[in-house]
Amino acid sequence: MHILISGAGVAGLAAALELGTRGHEVTVVEYDRRLRLAGTPIDIRGDAVETAQRMGLLAEIRRQRLRMSETAWFVDGDGEPIARVPLAQIGDSDDDIEILREDLMRILAGALPDSAAIRFADSVAALTDDGDGVEVRFASGRTGRYDLVLGADGQHSAIRGLVFGPEEDYARHLGVYIALAALPAEARIEGANAIYNVPERMAGVFRYKDKAVAVLEFRSEPLDYDRHDTDAQKRIVIDAFAGYRSWRIPELLDALRADPDFFFDSASQIHLPTWHRGRVALVGDAGYSAAFLSGRGTSLALTGARILAEELDRCGGDHTTAFRRYEARQRPYVAFAQSSVDDGRDRILPASWAAIAARNEALRAAAADAR
Ligand SMILES: Cc1cc2nc3c(=O)[nH]c(=O)nc-3n(C[C@H](O)[C@H](O)[C@H](O)COP(=O)(O)OP(=O)(O)OC[C@H]3O[C@@H](n4cnc5c(N)ncnc54)[C@H](O)[C@@H]3O)c2cc1C
Repeated sequence: MHILISGAGVAGLAAALELGTRGHEVTVVEYDRRLRLAGTPIDIRGDAVETAQRMGLLAEIRRQRLRMSETAWFVDGDGEPIARVPLAQIGDSDDDIEILREDLMRILAGALPDSAAIRFADSVAALTDDGDGVEVRFASGRTGRYDLVLGADGQHSAIRGLVFGPEEDYARHLGVYIALAALPAEARIEGANAIYNVPERMAGVFRYKDKAVAVLEFRSEPLDYDRHDTDAQKRIVIDAFAGYRSWRIPELLDALRADPDFFFDSASQIHLPTWHRGRVALVGDAGYSAAFLSGRGTSLALTGARILAEELDRCGGDHTTAFRRYEARQRPYVAFAQSSVDDGRDRILPASWAAIAARNEALRAAAADAR
């Protein structure tokens, strides 16, 4: 089959790999001019580890594995460690793998077969499913006809918008925003892998390999802003931390001001009654974002891409049955991931000074019990 995938993130690349190696001709269209490699380390958890193995990627993923979270601390205003980040409460097992998002993206892109090609700086502008195929018009003016179209274009998926309707019909805002910014070289050594809280906000510095990233998160009602206006997004973060100058907050805000690749998004989930319509299906955050607070978005993208490709194989040309089976097999993973965010939010963003102190006390007590 000739398959178009919108989005070259983890889900899009994994789907391209799985479908391309099964003999399909795959075109991936990515809105950006290059792979978007920003991001803190992400986790491959549970059955996604076995999925990575079946994809033939596990050895390389393990080789590039990080152990950053294992060295992460909550710190006080002086940068003194006060409690360890409780990995045992977050992950599934010791088999979980932490890897830099950038490294996983490169591993996936490097494994693509010749039958899968990525086209950058373009996107789907319109599509028509006539039952026998999908006619696509791209923003560049190009056109194409495909047997199937997969929306792997993330939380704010354009394919979902075109086929299933506006995002507000399916998005569930979790009351949290996240910003990521690269830290300049001179900031990289001291106080890394540390999380500092003020009520409803966290500031973190994470160092891995030769890079360091500032992470700023805050609780908020849904905000109305232009997703293509980076300066406006930076102002939102700066305003959210206005009045807070403790620990390294001013330095992290300066890093955010200076970073052209700054990343900003909400923690939002996508809840759709179905992930497929006709010849179009959704994979990854586009169909079932669990939000970064779940720590499972990448695992869902990997299992989703694999299951979809397996079912298309198993069902021959019958994409309708294949999509239905994909959904039946992937739903339990999604339900579990989407239900696991509240603990993460309360742990990372306690709402008051008292709640911050109570969390630290509970973590210290748990650590003492474990000794
Ligand atoms: C830059 C970036 C940084 C991230 N950092 C983190 C992090 O630090 N921690 C974390 O837990 N999760 C992070 N995520 C989210 C995480 O990657 C996903 O939850 C998970 O990997 C599932 O990936 P996905 O491929 O479904 O979506 P995404 O990773 O969001 O990938 C979607 C891709 O589609 C592209 N795209 C968007 N719109 C269009 C369009 N209209 N046409 C074509 N292409 C389009 C995007 O540019 C992107 O490359 C980040 C995502 C991005 C894009």
